[in-house]
Amino acid sequence: MHPFDYIQPGSVAEAVGLMRDTADARFLAGGMTLIPVMKQRLAAPSLLIDLARLAELRAISAKGGTLTIGALARHAAVAESPVVQARIPALASLAAGIGDAQVRNRGTIGGSLANNDPVADYPAAMLALGARIRTDRRCIDADAFFTGMFATALEPDEMIIQVEVPVPEAAAYQKFEQPASHYAVAGVMVAKAADGVRVAVTGAGSGVFRMPAMEAALADDFTPAAITGIAVPADGLNADLHASAEYRAHLVTVLAGRAVAAAMGRS
Ligand SMILES: Cc1cc2nc3c(=O)[nH]c(=O)nc-3n(C[C@H](O)[C@H](O)[C@H](O)COP(=O)(O)OP(=O)(O)OC[C@H]3O[C@@H](n4cnc5c(N)ncnc54)[C@H](O)[C@@H]3O)c2cc1C
Repeated sequence: MHPFDYIQPGSVAEAVGLMRDTADARFLAGGMTLIPVMKQRLAAPSLLIDLARLAELRAISAKGGTLTIGALARHAAVAESPVVQARIPALASLAAGIGDAQVRNRGTIGGSLANNDPVADYPAAMLALGARIRTDRRCIDADAFFTGMFATALEPDEMIIQVEVPVPEAAAYQKFEQPASHYAVAGVMVAKAADGVRVAVTGAGSGVFRMPAMEAALADDFTPAAITGIAVPADGLNADLHASAEYRAHLVTVLAGRAVAAAMGRS
């Protein structure tokens, strides 16, 4: 690891100001991605701005039809939150399936979204649920937030404060996981709301993406049978030692069908 400075600011404004004024600074949340990347010398920030003292960013609450989760809410807190379990049980269960106990007790939703790993779980949930990502300066729709592999719409000095998630009528997430890391070989989140159905896929491509053909079919007929014939083309999908592109393409249709069944309460 390269030498670096370390600071724990006491407010969002201080953290963002430090980020703006320091070349090569990085926010540190759970450190579950950033620290390994630094140990591998793939990142060498000059300053780590540890967000640990910003306890207000760990809050989880609900008002009206919106669930709000602070950026520093750890995966375990989301999984165990009665507020999340009551409003969007699929999101609590998704969080419970991230990594292992150590990762869930350190990693945060804000860190996961800012990192936008193409095999991570939360991006699929935020995209399918039509969430808004609120930062220190604006609100970004999930559709505009995830811009590519490990890429987001965030400015270099911009901090995620919270996510605001509309509570759907029904939702479910299904993932086929890599057994060692629990990252998604492929994962599909399906959410049904008053204004339609959204289907988001992680793990299969270079970044999270939606399946408009499935969404249209499910809007007419919210059953697994409606999408059994809809496949994502294998061209351009990920291929590695865990699965070929063709296998991932097949998984997407299978997992989407299972997610619809689960959302209907049939699993
Ligand atoms: C062994 C292992 C298994 C894992 N398995 C899974 C899995 O099954 N599914 C899954 O989805 N993930 C998995 N992860 C990743 C895990 O969810 C991480 O916690 C997550 O990717 C990063 O969150 P973090 O809080 O640790 O962020 P950090 O590592 O602290 O930061 C990650 C990046 O986000 C930036 N950042 C952090 N917080 C903010 C913020 N509020 N605003 C702006 N930028 C910010 C940082 O500067 C950094 O660039 C796994 C990780 C490990 C080590």
